Amino acid sequence: MANLKLLAPLEGWCAPLDEVPDPVFAGRMVGEGLAIDPTGNTLHAPCTGEVLSIAAGKHAIALRSEEGIDVLMHVGIDTVGLAGEGFEPLTTVGAHVCAGDPLLRFDLNVLAERAKSLITPIIVTNGDQFEIEQSISNRLIKVGDDLLTVRSKPKQDGIQRKPSEDQRPSKGQRIERLSIAHEHGLHARPAALIANRAKHLAAEIWIEAHGRSANASSAVAIMALGVRCGDEITLIASGPDAAEALQAVKETILAMPVLAERAKSPEVSSVSEASRGSDLSRSSSRVREPHDGKLRGVIASRGFAVGRAVKLHQVEIAVNELGSSIAHESAALDRARSAVRTRLEDLSATASGIASDVIAAHLEFLDDSELVVPAKRAIAQGKSAAFAWRKAVRDVAEKLRALNDARMTERISDLLDLETQVLQVLSGASAAQCELPERAVVIAEDLKPSQLVSLDAERLSAICLAAGGPTSHVALLAASMGVPALVALGDHVLTVKEDAWLIVDAEQGTLDLAPDEQTIAAAEELLQQREQRKNSERAAAQQDCFTADGTRIEVFANLASLAEAKLAATNGAEGCGLLRTEFLFLERASPPDEPEQLRQYQDIAMALKGRPLIIRTLDVGGDKPIPYLPLPAEENPALGLRGVRTSLWRPDLLRVQLKAILRVEPAGQCRILLPMVTDPGEIQAVRRMLDEVRRELRYEGYIELGAMIETPASALIANRLLRDVDFLSIGTNDLTQYTLAMDRGHSELAHRIDGLHPAVLSLISIAATAAHQQNKVVAVCGGLASEPAAVPVLIGLGIQELSIVPTLIPRIKANIRTLTIESCQRLAQRALEQETAEQVRALVNEFAEEQSRVTS
Ligand code: PEP
Ligand code: MG
Repeated sequence: MANLKLLAPLEGWCAPLDEVPDPVFAGRMVGEGLAIDPTGNTLHAPCTGEVLSIAAGKHAIALRSEEGIDVLMHVGIDTVGLAGEGFEPLTTVGAHVCAGDPLLRFDLNVLAERAKSLITPIIVTNGDQFEIEQSISNRLIKVGDDLLTVRSKPKQDGIQRKPSEDQRPSKGQRIERLSIAHEHGLHARPAALIANRAKHLAAEIWIEAHGRSANASSAVAIMALGVRCGDEITLIASGPDAAEALQAVKETILAMPVLAERAKSPEVSSVSEASRGSDLSRSSSRVREPHDGKLRGVIASRGFAVGRAVKLHQVEIAVNELGSSIAHESAALDRARSAVRTRLEDLSATASGIASDVIAAHLEFLDDSELVVPAKRAIAQGKSAAFAWRKAVRDVAEKLRALNDARMTERISDLLDLETQVLQVLSGASAAQCELPERAVVIAEDLKPSQLVSLDAERLSAICLAAGGPTSHVALLAASMGVPALVALGDHVLTVKEDAWLIVDAEQGTLDLAPDEQTIAAAEELLQQREQRKNSERAAAQQDCFTADGTRIEVFANLASLAEAKLAATNGAEGCGLLRTEFLFLERASPPDEPEQLRQYQDIAMALKGRPLIIRTLDVGGDKPIPYLPLPAEENPALGLRGVRTSLWRPDLLRVQLKAILRVEPAGQCRILLPMVTDPGEIQAVRRMLDEVRRELRYEGYIELGAMIETPASALIANRLLRDVDFLSIGTNDLTQYTLAMDRGHSELAHRIDGLHPAVLSLISIAATAAHQQNKVVAVCGGLASEPAAVPVLIGLGIQELSIVPTLIPRIKANIRTLTIESCQRLAQRALEQETAEQVRALVNEFAEEQSRVTS
């Protein structure tokens, strides 16, 4: 008879399951057990046994003891939505572990900030075969303390047990296939609901997926199938009432909420938003302390500013659920939308670039029937205009979120931004906070794009945000407005006193919180010098660029639209080194046809007035999905079908794109660049198609074909890739992410994702050396080339062409003119010898300071 003591796997407060804020766990649907509110960050094995499963989101682990007792440990509630963020498994499925072995490490800060609750149920999932006795509850416990005692139940004759997982039935079966549409697949909660239903049926039910099968009465077995959203499962029922049993399980699955379970209603999500504020205080990662009176943040828009603090507060708008009369609420909603429309149209009259894109998106959403119709329907059911609008917006936002598409993040924030704009009008809350004094340094937790565009740009000196990321719309907007911006400064920035003098150095990433008079005077002088320097840089921008000792360095622009091409030409771009063609393909229902693509490429070519135009073939797939290109579900999209792989997977799209590029006039202005290349076979396949298309179009001349170096693989075999291409272009954004194994959009890691890491520089050096040996051009078109401090290192590594943000061209050209190749080579050599990106940064900053001393 099995008799096992389960030991506490976590340090923390031990509580009964009733205290778990999830009816599935609290209602014992998964099984009997206890819960621990953790104070420690490592989950240990509660007994010796085998690891049965680790959830895809890495937040739950199931173990089977040698006695056959299945224990599920589910860290936090609603943590499946974190998609693995903050979790680090320390074991693998199938591993034999001893009691006390560490199984999973988690980041308490991430969980505190993002999860509904940290409380961790520890549950015996096959408890119907055992008696469970709780050893402790409601007290602090340490790892290894006695937690539960589990004993086999005495055998009772006549009791039919469900077969174990390897005894799959085969006779008299009923079979049905089902597609799983639940956001996180069959994770703990859906698995528990299915098991709970199946357990009470006389028939035996099995679920098959991914070539594996699981007894439907075991939640752990179901979880171990690893069924994800979009997967197909097969339900197999046999025995008495198989058909009814199968139907019952199917209904259980279909009845489960399909969308994000965390935000079941607007009220729930607003509560969790509100409580998130208090949870943040537990998150040390948000509480960055100043050092030498300066806070360090992430640069979202480069620049330098001196100004006075103006604090903007996000006001949570209270909303009553019930409306007065249908006619009144409906008219109120129309009036509010109309007021917002007028304001957006006013803003749009003076906006340009990304600001006008954001405003156009908001105007589009404002009249979208997907929002207006459900809102009116809710009003007709007695809801207030504000409640109805908020619910309509959030429902659509949830649908977009469920697509799990990183590109939707900004669309969702646009929607939520629009929600606030309408609610503000409905509630009478004015946007008075937008009136700024002169030289305002705006301090906020985060900013919405609409808030930013409505600020008076003339008076806005800089933006400093406690939260936010460097690639958000607000960051792009700030850059396009030329306003220096720091994000992710941490909550300390919110304690700055209104009107305090601040120095924002969005070149170095620091915010000086209490500069003395002397420091302010010095900063003011620096600002003046910068202004003068800018004017002279602009004057010289149209001339070709040579280093001080006469080496030609070409400075091209990265483009993604016609507007940018025009801007680039006026800023002195010598061509376009990277046209990101995704802008033509995203956010539409079908791909652009050949004439449409040709029109766009031709317009851009003309805006560049005959200068070279390097067109990158479509770089989508994986983490940049598009609706008409349904890619197979991928566990790790950044490592899946992306870039040229996607183009070769959909050669029809590539063929159309190549044709459009070949038809741009004059022939010879365009070159073709392939993204995410990893081996020569990919280039050869594209070249074969290119040759076919050339023959088809009777294209007489030669068109250059290049490869992007964005992966360690392509850098390491650059010498072999070069046999098949005419030039290389190094994409340091992806090269950095894949070399450092850090997601380029990861806000927590933002401080460490640095292309100046010596490993990234070594790969650049390998590619550059290979290109020189074969007498071919090697460019850098990733973000590193737009960093003035990094440019000397790149030149020292042998880079002859840079492709950068259009507005930075005058400045970078001016910098290059002060450099000598020899000093750049010495700097690059020293950079390669450093151990960390910080050390390289210190080195390049020192070089830049020395350089400006010498040249000023
Ligand atoms: C890069 O990866 O550096 C690059 C230029 O491509 P993108 O940023 O468009 O992925
Ligand atoms: Mg890239």
